[in-house]
Amino acid sequence: MTELRVDLDALEANIDAVRGAVGAADLMLVVKDDAYGHGLGPVSRRAHDAGVRWFGAYDIETGSELRRALGPGIRIFVWMAASDGALEQAVVNDLDIGIGDAATLEAVAAASARAGHAARVHLKIDTGLHRNGVRPEEWPLFVRRAREHEVTGRIEVVGVWSHIAEASDAEDDLARAVFDNAIHEASAAGLSPRLRHLSASAASMTRPEFRYDLVRVGAFCYGIRPAGGPSEAELGIRPIAALRSPVTTVDGDRVTMGLGCLDGLPSALAGRVTVGTPAGPRSLLEVGIESTVESWPGAAAGDIVTIWGPGEQHERSATDLAEAIATIGEELAVRVSPLIPRSYAGE
Ligand SMILES: *Cc1c(COP(=O)(O)O)cnc(C)c1O
Repeated sequence: MTELRVDLDALEANIDAVRGAVGAADLMLVVKDDAYGHGLGPVSRRAHDAGVRWFGAYDIETGSELRRALGPGIRIFVWMAASDGALEQAVVNDLDIGIGDAATLEAVAAASARAGHAARVHLKIDTGLHRNGVRPEEWPLFVRRAREHEVTGRIEVVGVWSHIAEASDAEDDLARAVFDNAIHEASAAGLSPRLRHLSASAASMTRPEFRYDLVRVGAFCYGIRPAGGPSEAELGIRPIAALRSPVTTVDGDRVTMGLGCLDGLPSALAGRVTVGTPAGPRSLLEVGIESTVESWPGAAAGDIVTIWGPGEQHERSATDLAEAIATIGEELAVRVSPLIPRSYAGE
């Protein structure tokens, strides 16, 4: 049966590599999109056992699920826009809430009043990505309003944060200047945010001045290197998941697998990449409802084809495949259908 095989020991090794690289900054493991398709439960349990104390859940439903699974004490950050009811649930479940606009600030203050205790919040400045966040010209008013809510006990402002493109150093430097200024203005408004966080995988590893107090890392912990960027070896990480599919039929010069586009394999990969087989790399010929691969001597039904991931078949990484179709490794990982079973080594 086709499966996504996840190596939790490799996850922990990557987490250690990232923690080792970011020094004094704390690691928030980003687990949005079902832990990038690897499975929220097993990934977060293992990370928790490995000492991770911050999780980036994205949405409140996932954050609440993590709270139930991992108990009190750990910090769970959510930043997706949400309804008033969901925000109240976030406060009740003691989640750290990212706020990127004035209306949400009011909604969180109201939800805190209903829940009967102060929400812990992180205020988001738009440092140029224009993907949610308060614009610099509106920031001074925004932080003053946040301070009013803090004084009345509605919220506790524990963080200031932003998200950067990590596409060019020059652009990121400009974003960082905006970020530093925003922290300054927050202090001037009477706030004392202890947690400043700006970087995701790439900047966390390669640009020390972007680490501040906390880094939000997803891709590198899953061993997904950036497309067009440094290798896994240079980063000290390795892929943690392999997408494996058995041969169903052998037909002359091609074998058919029980995996196809409906399972999340991008059809654009056909004819553009090799995959791992018992005889080494072979071309992926067609991707459809079923998919075919160039055959090898002795190919038989039940042989395993590794589409991407670690193994002994000279297969390539998700990012290697992604590069062939101008996308990123994360996309291949999150597209694996939830109906494909995940199996875990090291659980
Ligand atoms: C997804 C995400 C991250 C993690 O990004 P990676 O490049 O996978 O490390 C960090 N912060 C925010 C706001 C995100 O949405």
